[in-house]
Parts: sequence; C-alpha cells; structure tokens
Amino acid sequence: MKPAPFGYERPTMLEEALDVMSGEDVVALAGGQSLMPLLARREVRPRIVCDLNRVDGLAGIQVGAESVTIGAATRQRDVELHPQLLEVLPLLAQAVATIGFVPVRHRGTIGGSLSHADPCAELPTAALLLGATLLLRSTTGRREVAAADFFTGDFRTCLEAGELVVSVRFPMPAVGTSFGAVKLRAAQDRAVGCQTATTVVDGVIASARVAVFGGGGPSGRLGRCEQALRGVRVGDRSAVAAAARAGAAQLPPLAGAFRDHQHRQHLAGVAIERAVAQAVEVGDARD
Ligand SMILES: Cc1cc2nc3c(=O)[nH]c(=O)nc-3n(C[C@H](O)[C@H](O)[C@H](O)COP(=O)(O)OP(=O)(O)OC[C@H]3O[C@@H](n4cnc5c(N)ncnc54)[C@H](O)[C@@H]3O)c2cc1C
Repeated sequence: MKPAPFGYERPTMLEEALDVMSGEDVVALAGGQSLMPLLARREVRPRIVCDLNRVDGLAGIQVGAESVTIGAATRQRDVELHPQLLEVLPLLAQAVATIGFVPVRHRGTIGGSLSHADPCAELPTAALLLGATLLLRSTTGRREVAAADFFTGDFRTCLEAGELVVSVRFPMPAVGTSFGAVKLRAAQDRAVGCQTATTVVDGVIASARVAVFGGGGPSGRLGRCEQALRGVRVGDRSAVAAAARAGAAQLPPLAGAFRDHQHRQHLAGVAIERAVAQAVEVGDARD
C-alpha cells in the first residue's frame, strides 16, 4: 500500500518547525522507522508531514556534571556509540543496542522512540528507570515533563497537538549505581525486557529500580519488586526469584491483539531475574 497524499515541509529552524506543527493535522517525521509504516498502511493520514531531520540544533549529546541532555533528533546509533555516555550512563547504550538492527538505529531517533511510546520499546523504559525529564515546545510555550507523566498509555503520551519533544535530560545516577538490561524475544515479534539500576553495600542490595517493557501495560517501574529486592544478600537467588515473580505479577495485560499474557508474565520474571543478577554482579565487584 502507498500513503495517502500529504503535504511535506522541511524546516531548518526550530521556530519554523513549531510554526508548521501549529497547523491543522500535522505530524512530525524524525527517523521514520515507525511513522513510515503507519503512513504506508494509511493508519495515519496527515495533511502535512513536518520533517525534523534538517532542524538546526535538534540533535546532539551534552554531558554535564549533573545531567546528560540529548536532543530529540539524535540518532539511536549515536547514543549507543557515544564514548562519554558509555561511561556515565551505560544503561542507555545497553538499552539502545538491542533496538531492531543497526540500520534501524542509524535512522531512528531518541525523540521519535519516546514520542511513539511503544509498550515494547527500550527507550521509554530507560527514560522511566533513569528518571528522565522531557523538554516540550510549541508556538505557545515550553514545558518540562517527567517521563513518568509523559507516557499515558500504550502508544500514548501527554504531547498536545502542535507540540514537539525538543530534548531529554537524564540526571547522573548516584555514585555506585550499576545497571542490567535484558531483552527476550516473545510471540508476534514483540519483545519482553527488563532494565535495572541497583546499588550494593556490604554484600546487600541497598537500592533497586526495576522497569519492564513488553510484559504488559505501558512500561513502568515495578514498586513491589523494587521493595522486595531491598536488603537481599548478593547471591540469594531464591529471594531475587521471589522478587521477580512479585514484579511480574504486577503487570497488567498488554492492550490490543496480544493474548499471551501469562507467557509474557513468565518472560518478564526471567528478564527481571537476569537483569538484577547482571547489575548486582557489577555492583558487588565494585563494593
Ligand atoms: C525493523 C524495525 C525494528 C525495530 N525494532 C525496535 C526495537 O526492537 N525496539 C524499539 O524500541 N524500537 C524498534 N523499532 C522502532 C524504532 O526504534 C523507531 O526508530 C522508533 O520507534 C521511532 O523513532 P523514529 O525517529 O524513527 O520516529 P518516527 O518514526 O519518525 O516517528 C515516530 C512517532 O513519533 C513522532 N515524533 C517523532 N519525533 C518527534 C518529536 N521530536 N516530537 C514529537 N513527536 C515526534 C512522529 O510524529 C511519530 O508519531 C524498530 C523499527 C523497525 C523498522
């Protein structure tokens, strides 16, 4: 199938892009890895496509003392290979490295993935786990939104008509934080994965953050699992397995055509166990 006819704008300045976006029935085009199939299947039929690829200053990675800021149009591959990011926020590189294939990551952008809000995607989960803040702009103003408030459901965000994601800010993780990221293939080519951030003090898990994608419902942190992990001794595999089961049990079914909820819950439990083990192993070696 071919897309329905649409107008095409390719602004070079952000103000110009926001002007185009303020029109009726306009969609932004970033890497096109999710939007192009939607256009081709006529699931979206915009009047205008606003191509962000030539907008000056929308791509780039700044590593500061307290946070890392990544422009919305930054390619996923650039996030994956950025040497400083690998050092300060290795989870981002780990998470991005499992997105699709290298050619997809060469085109796909961080802002596109966050705006698309696929419940089986790595980047929304990483943004939630790491406590990211998104900067949104439109012709009428700007606002900063925490990732936890940005995602409002499967493929849904709080973006309003005419609004663009301009950049994403990730706070520097606390000293001693170590990470784990695991992705498992599931039915219908929709993966299940887990990302974790833990600290280990004197052989005990002192803090844990756990987020799952593709396990059911929109990506999100698993409070019960995080609580159950706190105080667990490194090497106590049965306690980690119990915490993972508690986390997986928290997952609601994925919306739409996915009817394999129990299987997904099982895979989520396995992914949680493995991701926690990864993070704790690194943390314990450092402790
Ligand atoms: C073969 C294949 C395999 C893939 N595998 C994975 C995978 O394993 N994991 C994964 O997470 N993803 C996967 N993807 C999706 C990929 O990560 C996409 O790059 C991503 O979902 C969308 O990013 P994009 O830059 O291509 O955005 P686009 O496709 O251009 O846009 C996606 C949506 O975001 C909106 N948008 C884009 N930029 C902005 C912005 N700055 N502000 C507001 N709205 C914006 C668009 O209007 C559109 O609605 C895969 C894609 C393909 C083709």
